[in-house]
Formats: sequence, structure tokens, C-alpha cells
Amino acid sequence: VAATRSIPRVDVLAIAAHRDDVEQTCGGTLLALARRGATTGILDLTAGEAGTRGSAAEREREAEKAAKVLRVGWRGNAGLPDGALALRHDYKLRVASFIRQARPKIVILPYPEARHPDHAVAGRLGYAAAFVAGLKNAAGLEGDEFRPRSILYASLYANVRPTFVVDISAEFEERTRALLVYSSQYRDQAAGREIFPEAGDIRARVEALARTFGMMIGVRYGEPFVSRTPLRVGDLRELDVDTFTRGGLITPF
Ligand SMILES: [Zn+2]
Repeated sequence: VAATRSIPRVDVLAIAAHRDDVEQTCGGTLLALARRGATTGILDLTAGEAGTRGSAAEREREAEKAAKVLRVGWRGNAGLPDGALALRHDYKLRVASFIRQARPKIVILPYPEARHPDHAVAGRLGYAAAFVAGLKNAAGLEGDEFRPRSILYASLYANVRPTFVVDISAEFEERTRALLVYSSQYRDQAAGREIFPEAGDIRARVEALARTFGMMIGVRYGEPFVSRTPLRVGDLRELDVDTFTRGGLITPF
């Protein structure tokens, strides 16, 4: 578990249940942000000790390598129990202490409807932690109160219409490379053969999803997000909405 003391401030913090989750759902967005000069961070909630493949130690090494590929400034681990995440107050406080130190303007969370229960809980836990972090007199929480401005949900695997899609055409190859760094998970092996895709199929799957969301906004590759709060608009002309983009899975009235 990373010492919570040494956490630098970041502009954008992605929180997810497992090492390799962020690589799948919002890694391209993090890399695009870093290229634009933003500071980014990743907080993995668990160490992956309950995973079917690989050890927690292997995944730690892989997570550090992947963070470099995505040019993430800081990556930490909250040490919460893998396979047993729960919406518990002590877990909220643990995550809130990271948020108070990293002080991100934007927090990216997993969309809370998910196949894996840890992913579903991580979305709700992250939201609750961001709220608690802003309570001045929250018992059991050190440091100055802080609340992120925006909570965005990475919705790649959710059956939900994205609020917006980030163009990751220029980042797709590196994002795929960051995922394949996790050879403990994605190299062909006997363990978990019935639940993991074959190594040779991973790139095709990742590409199909990125292409699908990219097509919605008229670019090659995209990553989808949901905001539960409507986007505030001052000047309509600043909205980047391309209604007649081709092949975008858009159904007109
Ligand atoms: Zn996961």
C-alpha cells in the first residue's frame, strides 16, 4: 500500500477497482490529458490478490510499467479487499484521504452498473469518498477538506448511451500497449481459460469497442463517458456536436 503521505496533486484522478481497469476504460483519455500538459493519477482500490491469474506482486510491477506508458504522474493502491469491495464507511474514508491529498479537479470512476461487483461498488464508493472528502469536520479524516469539481463515469463496458466521447485516435496504440503490459493477465495460460479471451483476440476486442465509440463522434477511436449532471453551456457554438457524422450508430427521429 502506497504511503498516503507522498501523493502529489493531480488535475485528473482515475479511480478503479483493479490494476488494468483504467487501462481498458480511460487510459487513452489520461494519455491525451498528459500530452496536453495536465497532471494525471491513478488510484487502484485493490491489489488483485483474489484474481484468477497472476500474483498481486506481478500485477504491481505491471501496473507501474503501464502507468509509464500512459504518462501518469502518480499511481497508488488503496489496499482494499479484492473481490470484496463494499460501500463501507471506513473504505470511503480511506479513498477520501487519497482524494484530499491529490486534490483532483476531475475524478473518473467506473460506471456503477457492471458485470463485476467490484466495478459497480467502485463507482459508488468513489462518489461517496469524493463527497466525504469535502466535509470540513468528517470524523476520522486528516488533512484539509477538498471536493473535486467533476465526477465522470468511464462507461466503456456499460449498456448506456455516453454523454460524450473523447477522441483517442492518437492514443489508441499506446493505450493498447499499456493493457498488454499485463502479461500475467493476458498471456494464454490454463488458469481462467474459460473467462479470459485468447491473447490473440484481445487487440481485436479492444479495437472493436474503441472503433464503435469513435464512430459515434466521427473519429477513428473513442472512449465513452457518462456525466450524471448535465454539461453547462454558455455559448452553443463551443459545443462540438457533429450530428451528421457518418456511421455513428445515431438514430435520427
Ligand atoms: Zn476489474
